[in-house]
Amino acid sequence: MKKMFILGFVIASIVLFGCSARSGMTFFGEKGPAADSTKSENQTDSTYMINKEELKKRLSEESFCVTQLGATERPFDNKYWNNHEDGTYHCIVCGQELFGSDTKYESGSGWPSFFKPAKNDAVKEESDNTLGMKRTEILCSKCGAHLGHVFDDGPEPTGLRYCMNSASLEFRKKE
Ligand SMILES: [Zn+2]
Repeated sequence: MKKMFILGFVIASIVLFGCSARSGMTFFGEKGPAADSTKSENQTDSTYMINKEELKKRLSEESFCVTQLGATERPFDNKYWNNHEDGTYHCIVCGQELFGSDTKYESGSGWPSFFKPAKNDAVKEESDNTLGMKRTEILCSKCGAHLGHVFDDGPEPTGLRYCMNSASLEFRKKE
């Protein structure tokens, strides 16, 4: 078990480093043909258009890397892994409600973990065979933002562990 987390940490570090290195050169370069374009691009859904230039300005570099490039943030060093407040977790890109605090639990992984989404159709799944592993990627069903992965070692009643990146989420505290 411990070995798994160390492995996860190493992979997360590599992925984030790779993202930063890439983004420093390409995605966040101040000059480039697309810098002053206001055209919407990379449409992932018939109803939701993502303007990546606008997103780069609005999101932190980490949130952009995680949601748009599929990076993984570091465990135990992110905003919500240890958040115990009542409220809802929304997609940081489009605002769709994704998870509720009533389904959040302590997985010990260092990432915010839930045993089910707020609604079944709030997220969509895709198979992910990167990094030599067979995993199921979880994306926002509305805008296609990368959120994290789902594993089958979660608690009852679902037995699922939705292992999410805090950088993909925006927590809204219950009034
Ligand atoms: Zn979204």
